Amino acid sequence: ARASSPAVVKKLDETVVNRIAAGEIIQRPANALKELLENSLDAKSSSIQVTVKNGGLKLLQIQDNGTGIRKNDMGIVCERFTTSKLVQFEDLNSIQTFGFRGEALASISHVAHLTIITKTCTDPCAYKGTYEDGKLKEPVKPCAGNQGTQIIVEDLFYNVATRRKSLKSPTEEHVKITDVISKYAVHNPSVGFTLRKQNDSNPDVKTSPNSTHVDNIRSIYGNNVAKAVEPVETSDETLKFSMKGYMSNANHPMKKPIFLLFINNRLVDAQGLRKTLEQVYTLYLPKGMHPFLYLSLNIDPRNVDVNVHPTKHEVHFLHEDAIVDKIKGAIELKLTGCNASRIFYTQT
Ligand code: ADP
Ligand code: MG
Repeated sequence: ARASSPAVVKKLDETVVNRIAAGEIIQRPANALKELLENSLDAKSSSIQVTVKNGGLKLLQIQDNGTGIRKNDMGIVCERFTTSKLVQFEDLNSIQTFGFRGEALASISHVAHLTIITKTCTDPCAYKGTYEDGKLKEPVKPCAGNQGTQIIVEDLFYNVATRRKSLKSPTEEHVKITDVISKYAVHNPSVGFTLRKQNDSNPDVKTSPNSTHVDNIRSIYGNNVAKAVEPVETSDETLKFSMKGYMSNANHPMKKPIFLLFINNRLVDAQGLRKTLEQVYTLYLPKGMHPFLYLSLNIDPRNVDVNVHPTKHEVHFLHEDAIVDKIKGAIELKLTGCNASRIFYTQT
C-alpha cells in the first residue's frame, strides 16, 4: 500500500495555546475561587466576600479589602507570567506568598469575562478594567469603589464548550466552592469570610475577623463538630517540620469524613496522608464512622516543592514518609489516651 503523506506541523495560534493552558489551571469554578482567595490573602485582606450565581458558572465575584492593585499595573496584570511576587527562580525556596506564577488572572481572562475594580490606599478613587484574553478591552476608567480589590468573573468557560458541558450541575459546583471557602475560613480565623448566592440574603458561610479556629469550625461544621475536636500538635527538628491542628477523638464519630490539610498555609490534597490517618481511626471508631481532621503543617520551604502542578494542589516534600509517621503517631497517642479505659475493659 502507498504510504499516506505526513501531516503538516504548525505552530499553534497564541490564543489557542493560552486557552488550553488556562483550562489546565482553571478546571472548575472552585479552582478559580481558590486562586482568587489566595490573591486576596496575599494582598493582606482581613475581609473577603464572595458572591456566586449558578455555582460560579454564571458569576463568581470576590471583594477584598487588601492592598489593591496599582493603576499602572492594570494594563499587564492579566497577562501570563506577570506577578508582583516572584523575581528569581531561587525565590521559590523561600516564597511566602501563595502566588508566584502570575497565571491565575491571565488564565481566567482566557476562559471568562473578567472585570477588576481596585483601589489602593494612595489613590483618590478606584479604577475599573475589563479583560479578554489577557488584555484590557479598553483603557481603565476611574470609578467609585472601596479600598481593596473586586474581581468579577462572568460566564466561565463561555468559549470552552466541552468544559461547559462537563460541568452540568451548578449545585455540585456550589458545594465545591463552599468547601474551598470553608476550609480557608477555618485556617484563617483572623480574616472574615462570607459566601452568598446572589440575591440570597442568608450567607452560606460567614465568619468574623478575629475569631478562632474553633469558632470557625463551629460556625461552618456545626456545634457538634466543634465540641468534638481537641488540639493536636507535633514537631521534629531534624525533619524540619511542625504540625498543629484539631482532631475529633474516639468518643465523637462523624457520619462523614472531614479532612482539611494545609501545608505552609496552602490548601492541598494529600490522598496518602488522608488514607493513612483514616486507617488509624478505623481502629477506634465504630464501623462506617469517620474523623474530623484539620491539620496545618509547616515544613521548611526549602524542603517543599510547590511547583509540581499549575493548580499547586499537589505539593511534594522531603522526608514525606517520616513526617507522615510522626503525624500518625501524634494522632494515635491522642486516640489511645482518650480510649484507654475502653481498650483495657475489652481486653480483660
Ligand atoms: P500571582 O498570584 O501568581 O502573582 P495572579 O495572576 O494570581 O498571579 O495575580 C497577578 C498579580 O495581580 C499579583 O501578583 C498581584 O500583584 C495582583 N493581584 C491579583 N489579585 C489581587 C488582589 N486581590 N489584591 C491585590 N493584588 C492582586
Ligand atoms: Mg495568584
